[in-house]
Amino acid sequence: MSATKLETPVTAVGIAVKGNPTKDGKFEETEYTIEELNPGQVLVKITATSICHTDFQCFNTDGAVPGHEMCGKIEAMADDVKDLKIGQRVAIGWQRSSCRDCEFCNKGEENMCQKKTNFQDGKAGWATYVVWDAHFVAPVPDSIEDSAVAPLMCAGTTVYNAFKQNGVKKGDKVAIVSIGGLGHLGLMIAHKMGCEVTAISRGMDKKEEAEGFGANKYIDSKNKDHVKAAEKEFDFMLITTPADLDCDMYASMIQPQHGVMCFVGVPPSFKFTFGIYPIIVDNIKITGSLIASPETTNEMLKFCADNDVQPTIERFEFNADAFLKAVKRVNDNEIRFRAVMLL
Ligand SMILES: [Zn+2]
Ligand SMILES: [Zn+2]
Repeated sequence: MSATKLETPVTAVGIAVKGNPTKDGKFEETEYTIEELNPGQVLVKITATSICHTDFQCFNTDGAVPGHEMCGKIEAMADDVKDLKIGQRVAIGWQRSSCRDCEFCNKGEENMCQKKTNFQDGKAGWATYVVWDAHFVAPVPDSIEDSAVAPLMCAGTTVYNAFKQNGVKKGDKVAIVSIGGLGHLGLMIAHKMGCEVTAISRGMDKKEEAEGFGANKYIDSKNKDHVKAAEKEFDFMLITTPADLDCDMYASMIQPQHGVMCFVGVPPSFKFTFGIYPIIVDNIKITGSLIASPETTNEMLKFCADNDVQPTIERFEFNADAFLKAVKRVNDNEIRFRAVMLL
């Protein structure tokens, strides 16, 4: 099948990386022309795009346009795309494509495909337009605003999938470690699932906000008495922190035999170190989770619409300076709780 030529070529404005913007680097606005779509692709005009820590993996790659939490409208479609409509509101996340014909793709677990591509394989979502594989473009329920949809597409779907694939259910004692972009959605989603939810964060300054998101309890991870009081308590612990941490201390709070620690944040060292005893003696499970399949993402959007789960966001304009300001604040852990650029 051949490419579909756009009736009128579109000039996209993207926010390109120059050096490391968390240090002395910056962002530059860059223009590129989109003239055609490959089979299966759609062109989306972006209305809201947000900043996830994973975007930082693009830093030091000059010219890269990051972004993998977007909401927008379908502007054009390749001739073979049938189940979306021009003008339809849609959302896009981390995954760009998958092979669509492997053991994982064939059972609807495309996020596990070993030939998948992600936002880093091309110009991504910090832009006015993006080209994406239609299979990884999700229709959006009417009741969620564009600015709230964007953060759900990585942060929301990542935490939802972690709960789903580990069988988290009503009544479970769930701990959410680190109350940032992912963590605050983790608190809300677990609360709406009917879990008994504990927020774990450094210091007490996020206590009130965590309770507002649905936390029944709050643990200051620097307070040894708090940690001791929660010994072997949690059925499921979701670790969202992008920082290095003392895993043994967190493992001490996991229920013996069936308790699970699930990692969704990547620390700067790309490593976590565990003492072996809780794993052998208490049989706790250690696992991780990567975004979600298109089917689970659709389910997550419906769950959030039905249960009024909306991220708390800070709004920014769409330009290179605003991105630089927001990225520095994300890096300093100051954003409450997701930075969203509105177009
Ligand atoms: Zn992300
Ligand atoms: Zn595949």
